[in-house]
Amino acid sequence: MSVCCMSCYCTTIGTQLAYYLPTHISCFVPGPLTFLGGNRHTPAEDCCPVKGLLMRIGCFGACAVAFVFGCLTTRLAAQPPQPKLIVQITMDQLRGDLLRDYVPALSQGFRRLESGGFWIKHGDLNYAVTVSFPGHATLATGMYPYHHGLVANEFWTQRDGKWVSVDFSDDANFHILGDPAATGESPKFLLCQTLGEWVKQADPRAKAISLGSDENIPVAYAGHKSDGVYVFDPAANSFTTSTFYAARVADWVNTFNQTELPRYQQRSWNLVVAKQFVSLASSQRTSLRGKPNPQFPHVYENEKAGQPDHPQPYSAWFSSTPLKDEALFALAARAVDAERLGQRGAVDYLAIDVDSTDQVGHKFGPRSLEQLDTLVRLDHALARFLDHLDKVVGKNSYVVALSADHGAADPPELRPGGRRITTPEIEAVLDKIEAIAKANKGTPAELADRIAAELKQVDFIADAYTPARLSEQSDDPFVRLYQRSFRPSFTTDFPLWTTKPREYHPARYGVVVRFKEGMIFDWAVSVHGSPYEYDRDVPIIFYGANIRHGSQPDGVMTVDVAPTLGAAAGVRPPAGLDGHPLSFVFSTGVDGSQSTGK
Ligand SMILES: [Zn+2]
Ligand SMILES: [Zn+2]
Repeated sequence: MSVCCMSCYCTTIGTQLAYYLPTHISCFVPGPLTFLGGNRHTPAEDCCPVKGLLMRIGCFGACAVAFVFGCLTTRLAAQPPQPKLIVQITMDQLRGDLLRDYVPALSQGFRRLESGGFWIKHGDLNYAVTVSFPGHATLATGMYPYHHGLVANEFWTQRDGKWVSVDFSDDANFHILGDPAATGESPKFLLCQTLGEWVKQADPRAKAISLGSDENIPVAYAGHKSDGVYVFDPAANSFTTSTFYAARVADWVNTFNQTELPRYQQRSWNLVVAKQFVSLASSQRTSLRGKPNPQFPHVYENEKAGQPDHPQPYSAWFSSTPLKDEALFALAARAVDAERLGQRGAVDYLAIDVDSTDQVGHKFGPRSLEQLDTLVRLDHALARFLDHLDKVVGKNSYVVALSADHGAADPPELRPGGRRITTPEIEAVLDKIEAIAKANKGTPAELADRIAAELKQVDFIADAYTPARLSEQSDDPFVRLYQRSFRPSFTTDFPLWTTKPREYHPARYGVVVRFKEGMIFDWAVSVHGSPYEYDRDVPIIFYGANIRHGSQPDGVMTVDVAPTLGAAAGVRPPAGLDGHPLSFVFSTGVDGSQSTGK
């Protein structure tokens, strides 16, 4: 993780405040809840950040009227029986086709969700920069990245006189308990409340807990106020927290770390996929830069080799396997027990962020046998967790949403037309941009235009976008996707990644590029982050109290997940969200009507 500090925060805070105020107001002020029978993202509303802002101000006015007339209730007036617990499960890099094609092999937890819930088979992210933080924050807030603020995993800014890439969640004002070398995590750049915060605002008795096997993603679900945020930290080899959220690790987490976690920390990762389903995965062995990946069984002692004098610690190897997420679901069950979630007369919230799907997908590829095995293991762990909820919270007394923050590209070796873009190729492009920037005598806008024009000449780049272009109305579908990922002064260097100090990186001038389809940065076997379908295609499944059985092929965005979960539990979302509650997934509407589908 990159290191952040107050100085970099100060350099950007002016810009941040300009965005923060109106968006935050719209997030905090309750407004009339309209149930829509499907997604209603009109291009004119979505494509222009400025127009979005004006709409929000208008919405604020409407909400102020509602306030005067005493509409500050945080519960819906008429509602069906409500769940006592909202569970939001996100599997990082779970591309939509994996669930669609692996149905026969996933006969337990996923089967329960699919056979009893409502499955949108091709959910869509509907924005361009499909990396993790934007994906999770969109699922958590019901807002697109240009409104919730986390437009990428890091952004380009000036610190100590140098231009550097800064992580969106690292916060040097805090630290990670048990890992003194790590920088703390906080939601300081997140502009909106999360579903967990809506739940707490709706009822002071409600609890919101966010758990994850990644080191920082649970921050996106916890937001600014939470009753517990626990991540798996390999250096600490335990589930722990940032001091932004708590001064000490809760007793139930400490107990889990000491007594249960060791049971999941096996020295080998063996194949559990039944023989008849192995052929569902690709049989092609993947490799990176000529080095073939290891195959099953994966044994730590065989795979720990790194630098001869720096073998990979066991906890880091464990963190790259699905073993850690089998532990995560067990931890989630302990959270339900210890915090008595869904058992105290309030609607509680539990977020579960599964990370191994991303780790395994990057290393072995989305269609690898390793990813199939990961999903089978998660299938079993999910079933055990749902059984636990049935027993402790009660059948039909909780509601679940399962989705993903993004998909992934297949390795180019398996996909005709694609290829890997190497580090020397990227450095050569950045050298050219540096020469242009150093020689520039024009205005910042003219320089951005010159840089974009140069980038468009590169054979693997499809287009380059300047701040001016992303601020105008456009009929270009890619421009519209990038507009939802765009905030001035928060430009990511992705996918022109470099480890060199690059004072003149295009991101400094607000210029972002789109690689051609199938072109991936040579960082891993498989990567994500593009606006193409393979990166935007994710499953969305709702299950549980008042969710009807059904499915539909597409037409739903991940931005709709949080408002739908909130509506299912009778929790009023803030006004002015980009997403909408999907009334067609409910068995009974708020007016008592039976749902007849989309
Ligand atoms: Zn991710
Ligand atoms: Zn990833």
